[in-house]
Amino acid sequence: MTKEGHHLDPTDWDAFGRDMHDLLETCLTRMKGARDLPWQQKPTEMGVELDGTATPTADVFTQITDTVMPYATGNTHPAFFGWVHGTGLPVGVGAELIAATMNSNCGGRDHGAAEVEREVINWLTRTAGMPNTAFGILTTGTSQATILALSAARARAFGMDVRKKGIRALPEVRVYMAKGAHSCVAKALEIMGHGSDCVRQIPVNDMSQMDVPALKAAIDEDRANGLAPLAIIGTAGSVGVGAYDDLNAIADLAAQEEIWMHVDAAFGYWSRLADSPYRELSDGIGRADSIALDTHKWPGVQYDCGACLISDRDLHRSTFSSRPAYLESAKSGLAGGDLWFCDYGIELSRGFKALKVWTAIKTLGADAMGQAITDNCKQAALMADLVNASPHLTLQHDVISNLCCFSVAKGDVTKIAADLQNAGKGVFSTITVNGIPCLRAAIVGHRTTSNDIRAAITAVEATQT
Ligand SMILES: *Cc1c(COP(=O)(O)O)cnc(C)c1O
Repeated sequence: MTKEGHHLDPTDWDAFGRDMHDLLETCLTRMKGARDLPWQQKPTEMGVELDGTATPTADVFTQITDTVMPYATGNTHPAFFGWVHGTGLPVGVGAELIAATMNSNCGGRDHGAAEVEREVINWLTRTAGMPNTAFGILTTGTSQATILALSAARARAFGMDVRKKGIRALPEVRVYMAKGAHSCVAKALEIMGHGSDCVRQIPVNDMSQMDVPALKAAIDEDRANGLAPLAIIGTAGSVGVGAYDDLNAIADLAAQEEIWMHVDAAFGYWSRLADSPYRELSDGIGRADSIALDTHKWPGVQYDCGACLISDRDLHRSTFSSRPAYLESAKSGLAGGDLWFCDYGIELSRGFKALKVWTAIKTLGADAMGQAITDNCKQAALMADLVNASPHLTLQHDVISNLCCFSVAKGDVTKIAADLQNAGKGVFSTITVNGIPCLRAAIVGHRTTSNDIRAAITAVEATQT
């Protein structure tokens, strides 16, 4: 029997401490051994049924580490190239432990966590090269950040009345993005009530960059037809082929046309830390009105965490702030503080995501993070060289940054990808480029080496003979 005040805490803290130390050992052993642990198919029965009966902590920890942990997504492995999934940082385990211990609610009030998030946001806006009027908020990812950014764009275009009146009185809007830009934009427009038909896809050049004269023509045509341009989406790192739009050209046009410029920089944001020539891919990003990015992708900060950065902090705040009397700020005490993140987004209650980002940047430093990014881009270039040297493989798109897409002479790419995954020889995904089915590698793993790239291509080649 447990007693009042003790129902949910350990009855024996020393025993709990030993369980926690054992768990930490198991977790660190797994992280250290990640190279030997490729993705594996989960069993049909996972044995994770819940019936509401209490079970001893040590048994539950062991059950999780034995029967759930082995069947993770596989992105901790250096030959996981299938999707743009971050690897996860060892220091993140420590940061998550601290955040769980503090259990801060980062929606508002005056406490330490908000200052950490403020610093993270300021670092992100500075690194992007945004003006010092810029601010932002950490989100669950780029999808949520895109909703926030386009809501701010809408508030600027049509005034704050849209918050009260909704979209009934608004003209039909258009949002422009390159063919191949991410589906999260359409989803944001669905959620915002405009509908995905408001997306207008603009043709691209050989490097999959938005054709800016075609963009201008589309805007002119839509205006002539009474439609209201809401935003131009520049892409920094397209999910299909790793393309970067010419962000300076888009910024020039957006300024001239007085249209909001948003950049989907989910992973491409991090090219800002890379060496030349990769850094230059995202030149001009700081001129955007808003940027959406993920920390859970390329830098490997644990899921989930993205950010929405907006160049006009006051507009951002006015788009979302709404506090009833019981949430009003006081001059001092816990209800004080000038920065309540609930004023900048959707959520009132929110966790301390900032700590894992802050800890990553603080311990590793921007240089090492940039080196990992640069290495991944060089690895994609190496993969392209190996493909070009192979009689069986054909590169189907120039490698621009960290993605490589190629076709095979023989066999079905979907089956080849699945066979390689099941054999633990590497995770590719598939994509159709110019009508040709391809294997696709999106290289974002900080553990990946040139040898992993060579081994993966050797494994693909072995399917061709
Ligand atoms: C992953 C991705 C998104 C969506 O981001 P989430 O964090 O998964 O919501 C949007 N755009 C691009 C280019 C992406 O790679």
